[in-house]
Amino acid sequence: MKKGYYGQWGGAFIPEVLHATFADLIQAYESARADGSFWQEYVQLMSNYSCRPTPLTYAENLSRHFGGARIYIKREDLNHTGAHKVNNVMGQGLLVRRMGKKRVIAETGAGQHGMATATMAARFGFDCTVYMGEEDVARQRPNVFWMEKLGATVVPVTNGSRTLKDAMNEAFRDWVASMDETHYVIGTVCGPHPFPEMVAWFQSIIGQEARQQILAQHGRLPDRVYACVGGGSNALGIFQGFIGESEVELVGVEAGGHGIETGQHASRMIAGSGATPGVAQGYKSMFLQTGEGQMLDTHSIAAGLDYVGISPILADLGEQGRVRFAAATDKEVIEALSLTMRTEGIIPAMESAHAFVQAFKEVPSMSSDQAVIINMSGRGDKDIFTIAHAFDDPSWKSFIVARAETYR
Ligand SMILES: *Cc1c(COP(=O)(O)O)cnc(C)c1O
Repeated sequence: MKKGYYGQWGGAFIPEVLHATFADLIQAYESARADGSFWQEYVQLMSNYSCRPTPLTYAENLSRHFGGARIYIKREDLNHTGAHKVNNVMGQGLLVRRMGKKRVIAETGAGQHGMATATMAARFGFDCTVYMGEEDVARQRPNVFWMEKLGATVVPVTNGSRTLKDAMNEAFRDWVASMDETHYVIGTVCGPHPFPEMVAWFQSIIGQEARQQILAQHGRLPDRVYACVGGGSNALGIFQGFIGESEVELVGVEAGGHGIETGQHASRMIAGSGATPGVAQGYKSMFLQTGEGQMLDTHSIAAGLDYVGISPILADLGEQGRVRFAAATDKEVIEALSLTMRTEGIIPAMESAHAFVQAFKEVPSMSSDQAVIINMSGRGDKDIFTIAHAFDDPSWKSFIVARAETYR
């Protein structure tokens, strides 16, 4: 098969001027991958800086509550910066240092990938510019605040709809003008080759650990593994630990938003979602788009899942039937979040809670000698503004109003 293709999906649809930069990147990535000491250095860095290996927690109370399969939770929330995104950015940081570049750029929607990249840049001593739609800059002030304090320059993008896809275009424009000293840190397993493959490699650390942990704790492989899917990086990260084992079912959970039938969702792999094959943002995959290839507005309560495309690797695994897809609605997410908080004292990110929803639907009909793993991609306490709003908490509202008063 052609490099960078997964079945009919993937590729590298990039402007001519970037060909040499991509060739350099592919060369650096492939030589790092062939050099065992690079992975060792990466694992060492992640244990020193980001609490790896993250635990696999047996959720005893939830398991008892449902009375079916045993539920294990892979705790990516315990990473530095609170989610799995750091696995990817630190890996790319090591590669950037190896390539001798001094500057990184990134695009960000909700600000989580921007935060992770700004953190990595501070740690490695790189200059960092983050492109963010003007609309998102206004909505995500706490993340903008931290990115700036971490030393990054946040550039509000005023083109188009002033959101993620415009930020992405702006980042590519920057890269074309600065490619000799700059690396563009793409945040998920999407974009032109080698990004899907490279980001999946860095995230595979989740699956490597989870496989060893479940064998040690449960004595055998899990029956099912659940992960939420935005671009697909946390899902591919954990799935890679089990992909060769046909008896382990892999389940990707997309954002069902207000319901697939309403059109207000971000699901690309569910029948009836309306997604179609297309080429955008440098790769071929399934996209939520009009017949003319205009990207649609997506909706999810979880900012990290609110994206038009999906990894070409997952589009292929879905087409082959190796990964089964489901969707969770905003309402189901809030219920699963409440239950997990009260039963286990664990606060999943809104994104991660999508995976919990589907697992909770399925475990009651499984037997008690079976086991499932839920990949908890991140922690929810950082989402307090969204979660408190979703719970419609009156005391929280009074607090915000009183707080605002002090700035008058
Ligand atoms: C960004 C994010 C996601 C979605 O990204 P993937 O590439 O699909 O993993 C999921 N969970 C959390 C906590 C995130 O920050």
